[in-house]
Amino acid sequence: ADFDELGLDEWLVNQCKQMGLSKPTEIQQNCVPHILKGEDCIGCAKTGSGKTAAFALPILQKLSEDPYGIFALILTPTRELAFQICEQVSVLGKPVGARVTVITGGLDMMQQGLDLQVKPHIVISTPGRLADHLDSCDTFSLKKIKFLVLDEADRLIEDDYGEQLEAIFRVLPKKRQTLLFSATMTQTLQQLQEVALNKPFFWQQ
Ligand code: AMP
Repeated sequence: ADFDELGLDEWLVNQCKQMGLSKPTEIQQNCVPHILKGEDCIGCAKTGSGKTAAFALPILQKLSEDPYGIFALILTPTRELAFQICEQVSVLGKPVGARVTVITGGLDMMQQGLDLQVKPHIVISTPGRLADHLDSCDTFSLKKIKFLVLDEADRLIEDDYGEQLEAIFRVLPKKRQTLLFSATMTQTLQQLQEVALNKPFFWQQ
């Protein structure tokens, strides 16, 4: 299959080509059409499988159709991963002016507070720092997000983010699309799946 057979808009197909992505990877081929249809999705694959574009492409397509507020929240375990995701999402989303913000530890809280006030479309965050912002300010809201992405979910759980994740889930809308990506599917992850996802499409490498 080619990128234009996945149901993606032409501007996104072009953006993929510009980035040097000639053919969709397996995870992209399998997950993108289901995400575009509005389904929740679980993708089990190692890093390097192209999972970032697998969630970024459909999110950007939906964002371009109806841009408002904070549209998507992407949770990832580390600051490095957050910046890598930000880079890909920013490049792919450039033609539609997608505003992307990284909220992680090790960066200035005050500046991040200001970044959140200018209403980014996509927030990429580690759970600890996002939970801090939820505690400390009420100038931004995650109540109306359309997409939640749990990236490297096995590590999100391992890294003891349980309490922060719960605090974040409490402020998210029930009606949303949730996409979970993980190298492995563990029993704890299955519990997370039960509380956070709704009849997901499941794909394993
Ligand atoms: P990820 O699994 O999302 O961390 O992606 C790993 C790397 O694969 C990134 O550097 C991407 O730019 C690259 N990549 C993603 N999708 C494709 C594709 N369809 N073809 C070639 N490379 C890709």
